[in-house]
Amino acid sequence: MDEFGLIDRYFARARTDESVRVGIGDDGAVLTTPEPGRELVAATDTLIEGVHFPENVDSWCVGWRAVMVNLSDFAAMGADPRWMTLALSLPEANAAWLDGFASGLFEAAASDGVQLVGGDTTRGKGLVISIQVIGDVPEGEALLRSTASPGDRLFVTGTPGDAAAGLDEFDQTDASERLRRRFLEPTARVAYGRRLRGRASAAIDLSDGLYADLNRLLTASGVGAVVDLDRLPLSADLAARYPRAQQLRFALSGGDDYELLFTAAGDRVPESTEHRVTGIGRIVEGAGIECRDGGKPVAYTDDGYLHFE
Ligand code: ADP
Ligand code: MG
Repeated sequence: MDEFGLIDRYFARARTDESVRVGIGDDGAVLTTPEPGRELVAATDTLIEGVHFPENVDSWCVGWRAVMVNLSDFAAMGADPRWMTLALSLPEANAAWLDGFASGLFEAAASDGVQLVGGDTTRGKGLVISIQVIGDVPEGEALLRSTASPGDRLFVTGTPGDAAAGLDEFDQTDASERLRRRFLEPTARVAYGRRLRGRASAAIDLSDGLYADLNRLLTASGVGAVVDLDRLPLSADLAARYPRAQQLRFALSGGDDYELLFTAAGDRVPESTEHRVTGIGRIVEGAGIECRDGGKPVAYTDDGYLHFE
């Protein structure tokens, strides 16, 4: 199977709406411009085998996850994802692997109505997947990192820490299947992000750990935060399997949750039937994060993931 046979067989699919005039097959995709009153949004994320996920992960999960980590950026912008391109570098063209990968990729894309409109396919030493998502948002309504204010409350979706625990246990025979799934099959909170437009004052998605990602939001906004550790929403699985110090370490410094961390001016935020939404602290003047447990300040040293340190 050559490169073009591979693209044709696994990635060229019929368009699902009229927004794509020219998709896979030409030198570039031709897409409709957003309606007046809307702005374009673009985001890219790369996944490298052995860096972002362990080797020999089921290929369906690789495809699903590669799309979801990108959609999570859209969730954090409160934006509507519409199209994506896929740059794929593979050591070999293995039909069974590609079948699973394409299924996971298209299922994840379909869950938010995203169409694959182009890409690039190359042979390389290791598996590298780079996806770019393009979409739009009503003008001026994109959720930013830089707009939190002192007095805002701080919220998180889901139960952070699960994905990191799942990755940590990955190869253990007694690993929790639910925790492993939280790593392998994250669900970007796109619908919820959309509902936060006009309601949240700032937002970021959790990819590198709550502590590190919160720090990014705080730095961008020029504010500080108080986080109540005793209010962190820890899952029953995490609580049952680890001592409290380790639970907190996963929740604060573990990555890969792809939940939303956001601020809002009041106590009331939209509820969801799909995931928890929990108030975990507040924004204050100053800089940095003060952790409290039972109302008292406690020291916490983050060791969240950085690619270059
Ligand atoms: P060119 O050499 O003209 O850039 P390519 O050979 O890279 O063309 O790709 C041919 C067509 O297939 C293009 O429309 C490109 O967008 C698409 N394509 C290539 N790889 C992928 C992929 N992995 N997924 C989706 N579309 C792809
Ligand atoms: Mg090309």
